[in-house]
Amino acid sequence: MQVYISVDMEGVAGVVHGDQCRRGTAEFDDACALMTEEANAAALGAFDAGATAVLVNDSHGDMRNLVFDRLDPRVSVLSGSLKPYSMAEGLQEERHDLALFVGYHGGAGTRDAILDHTYRGVVVYEVRVDGRPLNEAGLNALVAGSRGTPVGLVTGDATTCAQCRALLGELVTVEVKWAVGRASARTLHPVRARELIRAGARSAVEQRARWRPFSLPRLGLEVDLVHTAIADAVAIIPGVVRTAARTVAYDARDVDDLFRALLTIVRLGGTVV
Ligand SMILES: [Zn+2]
Repeated sequence: MQVYISVDMEGVAGVVHGDQCRRGTAEFDDACALMTEEANAAALGAFDAGATAVLVNDSHGDMRNLVFDRLDPRVSVLSGSLKPYSMAEGLQEERHDLALFVGYHGGAGTRDAILDHTYRGVVVYEVRVDGRPLNEAGLNALVAGSRGTPVGLVTGDATTCAQCRALLGELVTVEVKWAVGRASARTLHPVRARELIRAGARSAVEQRARWRPFSLPRLGLEVDLVHTAIADAVAIIPGVVRTAARTVAYDARDVDDLFRALLTIVRLGGTVV
């Protein structure tokens, strides 16, 4: 039984500020260790439930955050960037029995969610598919769902967990902190968070027959950009239509096409910020 884990940093217990998530700061190595331990806790929970293979995708920043010596030797890791499918890399390759999203955060514009953003905060104001605002969990779940892989677990702050339940339907969530503001929270002790994540992952994998692959009826992508200059830049992408001063739209033929268009917008948009 194959389990896939995508792990981000902003939703990890003990992380509340962007400085912790940025390479080169005094706090960064500690945050990498916290992130690694939560990924490992989810992997251990999956193994507890009978997983025979666990693939961990390092999904934050330059995607070289995981501390290998702290990971169970049974896992394999997708490390480094660029990866064509970024936080969802590997989900496009094959069907997994279940996907787990660990350390995730709220979509751009979410109140009381630690470090809310969608893929790139300085570029993206909001992403909608079929008219629905999607956070990163929703977007990555679309890639998983296109291959028949359901998402069974999301961990992060309480607001993010609620947002993902509303978006993805029934699944296990583990709340590890409660935001006071965008960069302040009441957080569980990381050791307690790991215990809950291990138990949550185990439960999600044991119940894997219950979770349904995520899909949306129509794959119309709309992206609100932060500035008009970003819209100027991304409007030249083939197939992209500018529908408002700061908004572009793209009619995707399938999930791969949609996800590639989104990442192209994010990366090209990032060259003018
Ligand atoms: Zn991140």
